[in-house]
Amino acid sequence: MNLYFLLPLISALACLVFGVLILARDRDATPHRCAAALLLGGSWWGIGEALWTLAPDPVTALAVLRISAPGWIAVGPVCMHLFLAAEQRSTHPMRRVVPFAYAGAALFLLAEWTEPFLASGPWITEGMARVPWGYAYLTGPAYWLWYTFTVLTSSAGIFAALQDLRGGASPAETHQTPWLGTGVGIPLMIGSTTDGLLPLLGIPLPRLGVASFAVFGALVTWSMHRFGFSLLAPKTFAGQILEAMPEGVALATPEGRIRAANPSLAALLDLPVAALLDRPLQSFLPGITLTAENALRELEFDLETAQRRVPVAISAAPLRDKQGALLGLVLVVRDLREVVNLRSRLLTSARLAAVGELAAGIAHEINNPLAYIGANLRALREHWLALADAWRGDVAKLDFAELFDEGTAMLDDSLEGVERTAGIVRDVRAFSHGGADASERFDPHEVLDRALRVAAPQLRRSAQIEREYGEVPLIEGARRELEQVFLNLIVNAAQAIDGTGVVRVRTSVVDDTVEIAVADSGRGIAPEHLERIFDPFFTTKPVGEGTGLGLSISHEIVRRHGGRIDVASKLGQGTEFRVRLPIAG
Ligand code: ADP
Repeated sequence: MNLYFLLPLISALACLVFGVLILARDRDATPHRCAAALLLGGSWWGIGEALWTLAPDPVTALAVLRISAPGWIAVGPVCMHLFLAAEQRSTHPMRRVVPFAYAGAALFLLAEWTEPFLASGPWITEGMARVPWGYAYLTGPAYWLWYTFTVLTSSAGIFAALQDLRGGASPAETHQTPWLGTGVGIPLMIGSTTDGLLPLLGIPLPRLGVASFAVFGALVTWSMHRFGFSLLAPKTFAGQILEAMPEGVALATPEGRIRAANPSLAALLDLPVAALLDRPLQSFLPGITLTAENALRELEFDLETAQRRVPVAISAAPLRDKQGALLGLVLVVRDLREVVNLRSRLLTSARLAAVGELAAGIAHEINNPLAYIGANLRALREHWLALADAWRGDVAKLDFAELFDEGTAMLDDSLEGVERTAGIVRDVRAFSHGGADASERFDPHEVLDRALRVAAPQLRRSAQIEREYGEVPLIEGARRELEQVFLNLIVNAAQAIDGTGVVRVRTSVVDDTVEIAVADSGRGIAPEHLERIFDPFFTTKPVGEGTGLGLSISHEIVRRHGGRIDVASKLGQGTEFRVRLPIAG
């Protein structure tokens, strides 16, 4: 038995395995389908070649060769198609040639298959000659035409792909090029020489065509595994990126119907990807207008599903072709659960830091009543002991009226001190308590008064407080968060005063908003600092006194309430912060 048949047989099996692997990776990507077609065709051809090598006579060998023809006759057009489909600019003019190339291959197949029915014809192969490794085919009149056609079509495809790579390939693609170039180029060159050129020249040598296909399959499969097949199927690569992205991404028609969505978006919406397709974006983004003109950037929104509510940031942008025609909308949805959680923790820490900044003053404030409560209790103890002695018999020495009057006064004093201390503790506790607030309607003056009470120890040392409260309607929001804003502004005002000065708190209605202004006669803000004071951690105060979080958090709180903060300052004369909040509807 001629053992040469093992070479095409083993190569055919390898081609089959690689073809299936490539197809399994992504059946929808044209380059994958073309590469698989080449390899599965190669497998058909290889099995044919193994069989005709073992054929008993040249006529049977030729018949088997013709049966294997679909595996090798269209190699040129499929190669061309493969490289043009892998090409990134899908508009390469050579694409129009591909259908004609396939039609050409069909004509060649027809020419090859007419042999059993016609006495003579333009066949590609005409007969078989015995050689030590099986048979060599004798070329027919159409052979050189087919060979030129195959070389031209496949080189045209390779040329187009190389051209494309020169114009802006990514580093991964550039890296992959030599591998694919060598992997595709050298085996194909060897195969086309031993199976195409040498038979044409009448030089018989063992054929390596199918084996070269197997090498091609191995290199493409390896490159696909190593690089994610970015070079041959960039669209597949993009698809993989979208699949792997933690952000939800959807592509919608210009009218806002979802055409494609990634698994992250489906997970955010608690739905399978298939259930999202063709659904209008509006169905889960109520109240948001999505049009090509209305690009969104990080719009915060609560995504509601049947089971839960997820805070997200939504960005949307139109997708246009090179001429600027609208293709659709791209929507990116970012899960903000972690951010919201951190934000609320930061808010609580900033609130605690604000109380921390006031701690010295608060301690002093509590210490005062405690001192006289203690003194009173000690004096009362003396009275009590004197009364006890008197009761035991020495009544004449005592002035009862004086003892009782003094005692009552001391008790009143102490009770007032206890009240004051309890009040301070209550205010601080109410303020520093963690957690988020529900939205409610309230009088801004109430909130300002509480903030002024909490800041009182700080203020009393240096500032005189002036309240200029106007007639203002209710506002709506998280009460303690706004209290935190005013406390920050008031404490900053107090800290800005060297020596003594005034802190003026004013309320009024401006347009459709309530304006709350906190002004001080302090040292003012240097112009170069003015634009940085709202940045997180920007502080000009010594460690322990300032964290630099107050204004940035205040800004964020006011923004979330639909309001704004403005500042005006003159160095050496003072500063005024103006907060505007919408009137409760
Ligand atoms: P902190 O008070 O912890 O430094 P803030 O964010 O509240 O943090 O303030 C940032 C900076 O803005 C302060 O360090 C200070 O330089 C400046 N600033 C804020 N309010 C005033 C004010 N009323 N007068 C002068 N400077 C101020």
